[in-house]
Amino acid sequence: MTTSPAIEGWFTTGPEPALVGSSCTTCTTVFFPRTTGFCRNPACDGEEFADVELSRRGRIWSYTDAQYQPPPPYIPVTDPYVPFALAAVELPEGLVVLGQVADGYGVSDLKVGAEAELVVETLYADESGDRTIWRWKPVTELGQEAEQ
Ligand SMILES: [Zn+2]
Repeated sequence: MTTSPAIEGWFTTGPEPALVGSSCTTCTTVFFPRTTGFCRNPACDGEEFADVELSRRGRIWSYTDAQYQPPPPYIPVTDPYVPFALAAVELPEGLVVLGQVADGYGVSDLKVGAEAELVVETLYADESGDRTIWRWKPVTELGQEAEQ
């Protein structure tokens, strides 16, 4: 049995996983998911991209309870569908990446502007082993609870 990503090439694995995006070699704008073809920066005519690992931490830009099943690459793991929390996290690279919230966390753990860290967790298991996906885990700031 092995552990492997549910979708190939979107993130690295290991103790410090990171999303993999494309950086335009002309204007250095970063895109996620990875892109090919023409740079989407309207002021740039670049056509070449380099793979780049994105920051593992960002700030929660928005979040929601997913009451409806998201489009691919989301892979349904329960039938019927069970709602879960989704967070949109803004990375220092200037892009916003949507992801499910880590196991054990819900919307009550999320706050706009709070820090979140990328983790890779098991999405489902099949005959060849565990399949993983990235998720956003709220970074708990120590001492904050006591002040409230
Ligand atoms: Zn460009």
